[in-house]
Amino acid sequence: MKTLDQIAAELQGYDPNALPADAVDEFLSRLVEPVAQTERVGLFNALDRVLAADLIAPLSVPPHDNSAMDGYAFAGAQLQAGQGLALRAVGTAYAGAAWQGELGPGQCVKIMTGAVMPAGLDTVVPLELTRVEGEWVQVPADALRAGDNRRLLGEDLMAGQPALLAGSRIGPAALGLIASLGLAEVTVRRRVRVAFFSTGDEILSLGEAPREGAVYDSNRYTLFGLLKRLGVELIDLGAVQDRADSLEAAFRQAASMADAVITSGGVSVGEADHTKAVMRRLGDMAFWRIAMRPGRPMAVGRLQQAGSSALLFGLPGNPVAVMVTFLAFVRPALLRLMGARQTQPLRVTARSEQAMRKKPGRTEFQRGIASRAADGSLQVRSTGSQGSGVLRSMAEANCLIRLDHDQGNVAVGDPVELLLFDGLI
Ligand code: AMP
Ligand code: MG
Repeated sequence: MKTLDQIAAELQGYDPNALPADAVDEFLSRLVEPVAQTERVGLFNALDRVLAADLIAPLSVPPHDNSAMDGYAFAGAQLQAGQGLALRAVGTAYAGAAWQGELGPGQCVKIMTGAVMPAGLDTVVPLELTRVEGEWVQVPADALRAGDNRRLLGEDLMAGQPALLAGSRIGPAALGLIASLGLAEVTVRRRVRVAFFSTGDEILSLGEAPREGAVYDSNRYTLFGLLKRLGVELIDLGAVQDRADSLEAAFRQAASMADAVITSGGVSVGEADHTKAVMRRLGDMAFWRIAMRPGRPMAVGRLQQAGSSALLFGLPGNPVAVMVTFLAFVRPALLRLMGARQTQPLRVTARSEQAMRKKPGRTEFQRGIASRAADGSLQVRSTGSQGSGVLRSMAEANCLIRLDHDQGNVAVGDPVELLLFDGLI
């Protein structure tokens, strides 16, 4: 395991006092290793888990050539350009039971969607194209080609081929795919455990009476929601007073129980508190000022506790900065810890409905409202007040507008990058 100094030495132009967002991503991808342990889980417990190894299809799906339509199956070689066909129906093939009869030229079998194609037959004429008189089925001229309306064996998955790759997060479609292979269980990485707590003497827990200069703890609840969506195991350690002994006890407890610890507050420059000192004492830590807005200060490292170690993410205290630094850096890092291959969220481009001031040299995130323009394209406007403590505008937003490090001012109509909340938070 590399120390933080070793990782820093590997990075070009590493400056902890003005760290570009890209360098933070790069640093964290070198710091975080996926949890090694795996477990077998039943499919109903596999949603949102991360596949530990490639899933090889034990059988082909579909297992036989079968009909894609209700109609009549026949040998397509009989089709000739410009000519219809008159076929005699000699039986019916139902889904779930193979039709066993013998077929001569000029004959066909009535077939249901999903029924196995009888031996030697490769084409299905859909019911609605036929005219049926007694046992005679009329196929119109030039309506079909040989092989039409047949699903091929293995068209979905071929036995022996990977159906899903290691590191896939199992979503609803993957659950269905795994079930289609006849598998009731899969091997996934064990669930990642994340402990979190808030720090600061001014922080009130719910249930406490309001008092002068104090604010209710919102960060614990936004973090709860963000972490819950990721499907990690949560360990809520509450709000911790800004005293060295309470903080030390909280960090030790968190590190002994969790793979990662997330705190908020107490990491700003010039903080007159104990958080940073305790972090430094208990682990290998880096304290950054990130070239971004909101969310400049952040602490990252590993807490050492009784032979085990836990990742530590010390987020700023401001409620919006907590959410933005979580989404920008902690979420990808936790996905990596979970063993996921895809860790960065999808970015989409939208037209800005307004001008935005932006200084080159830092990455900025604005709370945005994305919508569909009259011409069907995606457009976005900012929610207004962008103060890093203004959680209301975060609650009104449905996306973050991400203005790149090198980018300058945005004019009306310029393309900007969005991170849509749907699927993200
Ligand atoms: P800090 O990073 O500790 O200097 O905190 C920055 C600002 O965020 C201060 O105004 C704090 O009161 C506020 N803050 C810190 N932690 C929380 C929290 N858990 N909930 C709401 N606001 C907080
Ligand atoms: Mg503070």
